[in-house]
This record gives sequence, structure tokens and C-alpha cells, in this order.
Amino acid sequence: MALQIASLNSGSNGNCYYVGNDIDAVLIDAGISCRETENRMRQKGLDISKVRAIFISHEHSDHVKGVARIADKYQIPVFITEKTAQRGPFLVKHLSQHFCAEEIIQVESLTVVAFAKKHDADDPHSFIISHNGVTVGVITDIGTACDQVVKYFKQCHAVFLESNYDDEMLQNGSYPYYLKTRITSDTGHLSNKQALELFLNHRPHFMTHVFLSHLSKDNNSPEIAASFFAPHAQEVQIIIASRFEASEVYTIYEPNNIGSIRKLVMKPVQLGLFEI
Ligand SMILES: [Zn+2]
Ligand SMILES: [Zn+2]
Repeated sequence: MALQIASLNSGSNGNCYYVGNDIDAVLIDAGISCRETENRMRQKGLDISKVRAIFISHEHSDHVKGVARIADKYQIPVFITEKTAQRGPFLVKHLSQHFCAEEIIQVESLTVVAFAKKHDADDPHSFIISHNGVTVGVITDIGTACDQVVKYFKQCHAVFLESNYDDEMLQNGSYPYYLKTRITSDTGHLSNKQALELFLNHRPHFMTHVFLSHLSKDNNSPEIAASFFAPHAQEVQIIIASRFEASEVYTIYEPNNIGSIRKLVMKPVQLGLFEI
């Protein structure tokens, strides 16, 4: 069975990522309103009643804004670390469950593993979600591609990978010095260049899709981020996760089927606003 994945929104204005199979799904982060999450899922044919859990990566508002309302309305359990939960009144208490890094969490038919990441939050984590040999990573809000990121990136058939800023745009832009330093620090965000380096050095041969995610409004553009990856993507489909709308739903197949399926779905490389 394959995994269906989509970005419902990606960026400093809100993050929410959908990963599911035919019967179960999880949301990673809930940083857009409940209504917007419902609308976007409906538009893309995704069924919110399949969502068995919401995982929270860290306490920044672009990752938690909608969680209380969504969890309460649909009575969905929210997995959050104890430390992160203490950082805000954004949760319905009886629905929250704590997790630890590297713990294998079974959510019905989906397996989720969290791992610690470097970011300027209290207890930030990234996630991989697996089912039947297919693994999808959600790796955003990372200051650096640390050993943990590398270890889990290497397991992914598809990944939502942060590609936050373009070095030149950031350095020449209007942000104050302290903010530039914070963004580029090891606990800030990942640049296009750093994301590409991770991809070039550690991409597993079975990776089929990369969603460039959490692009900065002021210090990046979809065209620039895409242009970094275009010459190197080869057979990997590069998708820009938008700050404004949900992506299409992509199906990630079992590794054994990739060879035959690729022949059917391979399209010529398109250079466009949201996809290459
Ligand atoms: Zn963020
Ligand atoms: Zn953050």
C-alpha cells in the first residue's frame, strides 16, 4: 500500500503536512486555522475523519495555531513533547500524549518516529512516517543538517525538506543584523544551499519526491529555490510547497514497485512557479 502526502501550507505563516494511506492519516503540525485545514483537505479530496493523530514539531505559532480547535472538534489525539506542551496553552489536555525522541509510535497502521533537531525552540523534533516499507520525512525548521537529520533523511522515499532562504537575498535584504544571524545560525533555518548539499550528499537512491518547504517570504522565492535543485534533481520530482495553498496530493509507492511505476508516471521536467 502506498502513502499519499500533501502540504496543506508551508512557511512562516503556517505549516501543516498530511501523510496517510487508504485508511489512516496523520497531520504533522497544525499551523493554519481549523477552517482553512478543512477547506484545503476537502479541495484535495483528503478526508479529515481518517486523521488519527496530530504531531507537533515545536511551539512556534506557525506550527500550532490551529491545533486546539482541530483536535477538539474532531477529538484527535495530539502528540507533543512534555516540554513543548508546557510552552503554550494551545492544547486540549485530555487529547494530548507525550512522545520522546526515537520512540516508535504506532498510530493504527502508520508508524511515526520523532527525532530531535536543532532550532530555536524548547524541544524541537522532526518526524518520519512509515507504512509498508514506504517512509516520508517532515524535516523543517532546522538550523543545520545535523547527524540526526542525515540519518533519517537517508531513509526517506519522499521528504518535506526546509529550503528557507537564499544566502544572497538574506544578506542583501532589509532584515536587521541580529535576525540575519539568528536565521543563519545552527538553530535557525536551512538555506537553499544547505538543503541542496544534504540532497547531493545523502539522497538515498530510492528517493522519488522532495517538497522544498518553509520558504521565506522575504529571503527566497519558489523560482530561486527550484533553480538550485533543477540541475541535480535527475529522476527525483522537486515540488515547491506553497505559502498560499495546498499542494497536489502525491502518491509514494513501495520501493519494489517504483521501477515499474516510474515508467508510467515520469514526466518531462517542467520549469514552473510551483514545480520542476
Ligand atoms: Zn516554522
Ligand atoms: Zn520554528
